[in-house]
Amino acid sequence: MSALVIDGKAVAAGVRARVAEGVREFAAAHDGAVPGLATVLASDDPASEIYVSSKRRLTEEAGMRSIHHQLAPDAAPAELLDLTDRLGADPDVDGILVQLPLAAQHDQDEVIARIDPAKDVDGLTATSAGLLAQGRPGLVPCTPRGIVELLRSAGVESAGAGAVIVGRSILVGRPLSALLLNEDATVTVCHSRTVDLAAICRGADILVAAVGSARLVGAEMVKPGAAVIDVGTNRTDDGLVGDVDFAAVSEVAAAITPVPGGVGPMTIAMLLDNTLRAARARRGGRAVAALPSTGAPL
Ligand code: NAP
Repeated sequence: MSALVIDGKAVAAGVRARVAEGVREFAAAHDGAVPGLATVLASDDPASEIYVSSKRRLTEEAGMRSIHHQLAPDAAPAELLDLTDRLGADPDVDGILVQLPLAAQHDQDEVIARIDPAKDVDGLTATSAGLLAQGRPGLVPCTPRGIVELLRSAGVESAGAGAVIVGRSILVGRPLSALLLNEDATVTVCHSRTVDLAAICRGADILVAAVGSARLVGAEMVKPGAAVIDVGTNRTDDGLVGDVDFAAVSEVAAAITPVPGGVGPMTIAMLLDNTLRAARARRGGRAVAALPSTGAPL
C-alpha cells in the first residue's frame, strides 16, 4: 500500500485564504481596523527567529497587523512580564504570541499566566486549557487544531477511532488529547515512561507522533490502514526529518503527513485563524468562550 500524502501546504493555503477573506469582512465592519497579532521573541534561538519571521510575514499577507517585540537575550524577567501585561492592555492587540522556548532566566509558566486569556492565540493559558479540557469553546493551541483540520481534509473519521498520541507537552500532546476526545475519538497518550510503545501504537487508527526524536516510529509500529500525523521536526545530517520513518510507514499507512510540508504550515495558518477569532470576540464584546471550539467554518 502507498499512503495518501496529506498536503499540509495546500490545506494551510486554503485556511489562510479564508482568514484573509474574514479579515476583509472584519475591517469592513470595524471602520477599517484590522486584527493585530503581537509576537514576542525573548531568546536568541535561531529556529525561533525563523518561526517568528514566518508568522509575521503570513500575518501581514492575511491583511492583519504584525506588532513585534524583540527582547535582548539577557533581558530581565520583569521586562518580559511587563511587556506581556502592556500587550494585554493594548486595545490594538488582539493576539499575543510569546515564542517558546524562552531564554533560561525567564519562568515559562509565570509568563504564560500573565497572557490575557482573551488574547491567548497559542491557547497555552490555564483558562484556554481548562475550557478545552471541559469540552467548552475557547482558543485552542494551533498545532493540535491544525492536526484535526488535516485529518478532516483527508476524510479521516475521528469519531469512534482509536487515537494514540506519542508525547504529552502542553503545546501538542495534552491539548490534542482533549481535542480528539471532544471529536469522539478514544484517546491514549504515550510518553517516555510508556511500556511497550510499539504495541500501543500498533492499535491506533490515528497515530500522532509529537516527540522530537528522528524516525522513532517505524513501520512495525503502525496498523495497516492507519492515519499517521508526524509533528516532529528534527534537524539531522539528512536535513529536516520527522518522528516517523516516512518511507517505510508510507507503505503501511492509509494516510500520512510529510515533514516538512505537513503539520508545520498548518500551525501558522491556525495561529492566524485564532487571531481573527480572538479579534472578533473581543471587539464584538463577546467572550472567546462564545466561539465554537474548533472554528471549522470561519
Ligand atoms: P516536548 O515538550 O519535548 O515533549 C516531547 C514528548 O515526547 C514528552 O511528552 C516526552 O515524554 C515524549 N517522549 C520523549 N521521548 C520519548 C520516547 N522515546 N517514547 C515516547 N515518548 C517520548 O516536545 P513538543 O514541544 O511537544 O514537540 C515535539 C516535537 O514536535 C518536536 O520535534 C517539535 O519541534 C515538534 N513541533 C512541531 C510543531 C510544528 O508546527 N511542526 C509544533 C510544535 C512542536 P515525557 O513527558 O515523559 O518527557
